[in-house]
Amino acid sequence: MTSGTSRQLHPPPGGGGKEKGHGTLRLPPDAAGIARAAEMVRAGGLVAMPTETVYGLAADATSPDAVARIYAAKGRPSFNPLIVHLPDIETARHLARFSPEAEALAASFWPGPLTLVVPPGPQHGLAPAVTAGLPTVALRVPAHPVARALIAAAGRPLAAPSANPSGRISPTTADHVLEGLSGRIEAVIDAGPCPVGIESTILAVTETGVRLLRPGGISPETIREKTGIELLGPQGKAVLAPGMLHSHYAPHAPLRLDVTAPPPGAVHVGFGPDRPGELTLSAEGDLAEAARNLFAVLRVADERAARRGAVITVAPIPRRGVGIAINDRLARAAAPREAPES
Ligand code: AMP
Ligand code: MG
Repeated sequence: MTSGTSRQLHPPPGGGGKEKGHGTLRLPPDAAGIARAAEMVRAGGLVAMPTETVYGLAADATSPDAVARIYAAKGRPSFNPLIVHLPDIETARHLARFSPEAEALAASFWPGPLTLVVPPGPQHGLAPAVTAGLPTVALRVPAHPVARALIAAAGRPLAAPSANPSGRISPTTADHVLEGLSGRIEAVIDAGPCPVGIESTILAVTETGVRLLRPGGISPETIREKTGIELLGPQGKAVLAPGMLHSHYAPHAPLRLDVTAPPPGAVHVGFGPDRPGELTLSAEGDLAEAARNLFAVLRVADERAARRGAVITVAPIPRRGVGIAINDRLARAAAPREAPES
């Protein structure tokens, strides 16, 4: 699948795709594009799909070979488990054990940007590499209509980490996906920018309570309001969520947070009317808009910083609502570089 030759031998049905890069198709988010993508996934291929959070790199979660290809395409360490994307809660109940708290969380937030880490059932049928050896499995029912259509058409659970090389900035457009993975995956379904723009909130549902593993699109306040569940915070240094504690989302340039007086030459990213910058996450100071813009703005800031040999500085972002997740991603983008995660 390295050249245009295979494309000529197997043209997409209905003219459903344009080639970009070395053999990676850009598919439209219509019935023909989704059918073609589902065919690729059923054949063990890798297809980047839009979700409400970020673009995910989807593969058949029941196929060891397909799952191995996800790790290889991303350069993802084998100890970093994958989130499994499902059509509905009924399917989730077949794969895993759902406590009353898990049921309440799923009822309130699925479909949506919430991932539940739960004990797998005895006959889950998932490839072992999906859980990276952990005794739990991460499940999500996404809301994006194109992701939902692909999951339905593929007819199997889809493992789908963010569609970026491991440790780099997550993709919120099809162009971002192709910048990082062109030639390494079969296709990307292009449905424009992702509406939430930041990855799912991950909760571990345990016997002693519900623990926040990764802040995301759904805030702890919203979870409390809708379910009455009070979240336990991240647990010491124990790596419950392997992607959590390391440098991540890393731009190439150094990045500094909570900067109110940027040094001369810095690529400054503002927030709100009182803190403008050369770039801004939201001129109006809207946190949802800032989440939507975050990864695209970081990419532009990184290009400019590289050209100018400059640092990236970011204005303070309020630590409430989705601002908690924005600060989490910025802190990891600013963290000293270690072994990459994704
Ligand atoms: P990504 O899909 O790239 O956003 O990464 C998925 C993240 O989900 C991983 O990096 C882990 O932090 C988390 N995760 C997936 N499965 C589990 C699990 N069984 N237990 C804890 N965390 C998990
Ligand atoms: Mg990721």
